[in-house]
Amino acid sequence: MAKGKISVQTENIFPIIKQFLYSDQEIFLRELVANATDATQKLKTLHTKGEAKGDLGDVKIEILLDADAKTLTIRDKGIGMNEEEVQKYLNQVAFSSAQEFLDKYKDDASVIGHFGLGFYSAFMVADTVVVQTKSYRNGEKAVQWSCDGSPEYDLELIEKESRGTDIILHISDDSTEYLDQARIQTLLDKYCKFLPIEILFGTKTEYEYEGEGDDKERKEIEVENIVNNPNPLWKKKPADLTDDDYRAFYKELYPYAPDPLFWIHLNIDYPFDLTGVLYFPKLNNTLEVQKNKIQLYSNQVYVTDNVKEIVPEFLMLLHGVIDSPDIPLNVSRSYLQADSNVKKITNYITKKVGDKLNDLFKKDRESYEDKWDDIGVFVKYGMLSEEKFHDRVFKSALVKDTEEKFFTIDEYKEAIKDNQTDKHDKVIAIYANNKDEQHTYIKSAIDYGYKVCLLDHMIDNHFMQNLEQKGGEMTFVRVDSDTVDKLVQKDEEKESILSEKEQEKVKTLFTETLGENTQIDLRPLSPTDHPVLITKPEFMRRMKEMNAMQGMDMSMLPDSHNVVVNSNHPLIAQKLLKMRSAEKKTDFTKYLYMLAKLNQKMLTGEEMSDFISKSVEFLQEG
Ligand code: ADP
Repeated sequence: MAKGKISVQTENIFPIIKQFLYSDQEIFLRELVANATDATQKLKTLHTKGEAKGDLGDVKIEILLDADAKTLTIRDKGIGMNEEEVQKYLNQVAFSSAQEFLDKYKDDASVIGHFGLGFYSAFMVADTVVVQTKSYRNGEKAVQWSCDGSPEYDLELIEKESRGTDIILHISDDSTEYLDQARIQTLLDKYCKFLPIEILFGTKTEYEYEGEGDDKERKEIEVENIVNNPNPLWKKKPADLTDDDYRAFYKELYPYAPDPLFWIHLNIDYPFDLTGVLYFPKLNNTLEVQKNKIQLYSNQVYVTDNVKEIVPEFLMLLHGVIDSPDIPLNVSRSYLQADSNVKKITNYITKKVGDKLNDLFKKDRESYEDKWDDIGVFVKYGMLSEEKFHDRVFKSALVKDTEEKFFTIDEYKEAIKDNQTDKHDKVIAIYANNKDEQHTYIKSAIDYGYKVCLLDHMIDNHFMQNLEQKGGEMTFVRVDSDTVDKLVQKDEEKESILSEKEQEKVKTLFTETLGENTQIDLRPLSPTDHPVLITKPEFMRRMKEMNAMQGMDMSMLPDSHNVVVNSNHPLIAQKLLKMRSAEKKTDFTKYLYMLAKLNQKMLTGEEMSDFISKSVEFLQEG
């Protein structure tokens, strides 16, 4: 047996490994299995080249757990190492890379999860690490390297039949969780799910059914538990894949999620190497989705699900996998953002997503429209956050009207232009953000021959503002922000049935009943419109909404509203004016005002009770 010392300045490395990497110690398993995968792939390559002779046999990687012996073993049948290679790779290469890593990053915990320490990460969970290895080359002797965490190691020749390497971890007392089968299974699922070599971890029970009908019997059979899918979909050629394949892979990634709407297969090897598949999830008109659904891999090794620096914020709504060895993982975050490869990758992904949307829109508009309720929010979000994306997908962004008809923004402008241009030559788009609550207003606008579009997501406030600012596409006004005739600000006023004197009388009545502070407008609307309407000034309302969205407290500002009295309505023009008793007049005016409030959902509490009592009273009067 030979004893050796790892290196001169090593006194301190093991405690440091334990201490600094404590929070992310579970990555040791990824590191060791990734090494085993490398060793196996190298062997396969040598075999194809004819440099490794004979039948390779089964090359599965095995994970063996022995809770009694307190060991966890990672076994591969890869290239293995001879004594000289152990000296070189474990004592020099591996050690110096671990040392270098710690020197550089021990103060920056954020990068630790992104960068493996390699072989020496084993010491995060093991007191003693034993390596038994035999090279693939004929005639080489097997070697055992062992180290108890001090800078000294033992090296000896051993008997070992099979080619490859066993890494035996004697799990330390404070890491016994890694002797738990379920814990290891979870880690393998997380980090090794798509490694390119099959990984075997014990057995699992499967059920087989024998016989028919009532005689059917369930039989339990033990089968090998292969934890990974070595041939993940994103590594295959799109031409060889069906829609069902993509859906099945999505289920593999997110077992409980509903089917995705569509997907994008990423595949590029120049100027950077990147593969992957991004799925568009069913969003249901919300932005409340989990944002850490995209997984980042490097050559099928799981790296992280925090892809913030690589994927633009709005694209984080997507699900799926990005696999690139070109994303530098061993550098700090701020550097990553400035990295030119990362920038190119970000642009590439953004462009691909935009192209896909345009493609869907052009090829099958009908099904694109069907999906709009789900993708609209995302498209708008993207357009608001990325100028380039905005320009790319502008022609595929849709507006839906209250009759469920879809228009592109240009089409919509064209459709309303003739009828909804005001005297300042501005095209006025009338929108509703709640089809039910604004029903009366929508109906009346449509009766007047206007179009009303539905912009009912909280992002739409920003979206409208953006369209207004960008080349003045249109001006948006909410359908209840003013009476419809005023929305488009046409000059041609409608005729009033009432004389000026009568109008004055009506106005005075309302002012006296509702108080001087209420803004009252008399308008000669259609006799079939409501007698009294409440409108909310567009500007004030939108400002309040925008500020509230940014977290400001807007409750201090009163909800400002105007009262519009339809002087052409028979209840005003005839009934009210003809009333004799002053008390009755006041009662009636107040009642009409409350009706208008009811329509805007502004009636609550005592006012609501009064309103109901009054209604009952009126009904009883016959
Ligand atoms: P890295 O994998 O980044 O090179 P490691 O510290 O993980 O660094 O390993 C150092 C070296 O040890 C590897 O490059 C490889 O040559 C050798 N090695 C590690 N594990 C194995 C293994 N299971 N089979 C063969 N060689 C291995």
